[in-house]
Amino acid sequence: MEDLVRAARLRGRSLDELAITDIAATRPAAGEVAIAVETVSVNQLDLNVIAGVGPGAAAALPRTLGLDPSGVITAVGSDVDPARVGERVVVKPNIPCGDCAWCLSAREADCPLQRVVGVHRDGGAAEYVVVPSTSAFDRGSLAPEVATAAVHSVPIVLNAMDAAAVSASDLVLVTGASGTLGCAAVEVALGLGARVIAASRSDLTVPDGVFAASYAEPSDIPARIAALNIGEPSVVIDVSGHGAVTAAAVATLGWKGRAAFCSSSVAATIPLDGRDFYLRRKSLVGVASADYEHVRRGLRLVSDGTVRPVIGPRFPLARIADAYRAFTAGASGKVIIDVE
Ligand SMILES: [Zn+2]
Repeated sequence: MEDLVRAARLRGRSLDELAITDIAATRPAAGEVAIAVETVSVNQLDLNVIAGVGPGAAAALPRTLGLDPSGVITAVGSDVDPARVGERVVVKPNIPCGDCAWCLSAREADCPLQRVVGVHRDGGAAEYVVVPSTSAFDRGSLAPEVATAAVHSVPIVLNAMDAAAVSASDLVLVTGASGTLGCAAVEVALGLGARVIAASRSDLTVPDGVFAASYAEPSDIPARIAALNIGEPSVVIDVSGHGAVTAAAVATLGWKGRAAFCSSSVAATIPLDGRDFYLRRKSLVGVASADYEHVRRGLRLVSDGTVRPVIGPRFPLARIADAYRAFTAGASGKVIIDVE
């Protein structure tokens, strides 16, 4: 490892305060690995760190950004198998505490003490990143940009599918279906053998066998689903981040319908019809983060072609600010930063 490494370093709460600079390389401590980074992507949380809002406000500055790097392990700390040097890996962004009741029962997604790569510690928009060895997952033959695009989104969707107990007998309505999480949710539900409705405010290109429903306003959703004439959904997976969409999707559920939502980034208030909700025995659960097992399953689903992450525009590390601007402008597909 070099003594100095190039890194995208945020020094103040504005994109103008982000610069590519040389910083001292960190050596992996006990239980950690160092990774030579190939790719990292743009996530909403990066923009929250830059603006100092929401969960991004927790980042102390200066901070190296980047949640989800892919690369190759170049060094390991004590307690880590030296045979991992040379392993092609991708990093799970959320780091669980490892000691709480949830962690000890392999429910890392529900750990209340999670830290995030690129927020609470330096991230992967750099030539090298150091993370806990348990956060670096073998990506096998997956291309770095594909693993980067999948490692955050696909496991969260799997967690939501588990929370709603999705099986082949379900009719699954995915709302917010045109985004990264939504596309993954449609493909994962199909892979489970369920019938799937993909609903979005944007025009949709859906895989064969998927019913598409577009809507102008959230209140249109029940009529759009009814017009398909295929029955009431038994499950809703809502990734829209929009509480009014969540509520409209839940309204379409049949008897004992189950709903899981994975975001509240647009509007957090969910205006549910309480009477319909309890009389028809519905349930709604919020899902964030993912267990280690969801990451392993997610990477397998990408490797076997069940889930095909959509790669969007790509930028070299030197142009990372342009990558963030492309994301903010609504780029289609996952915006990738090529570090190598
Ligand atoms: Zn924990």
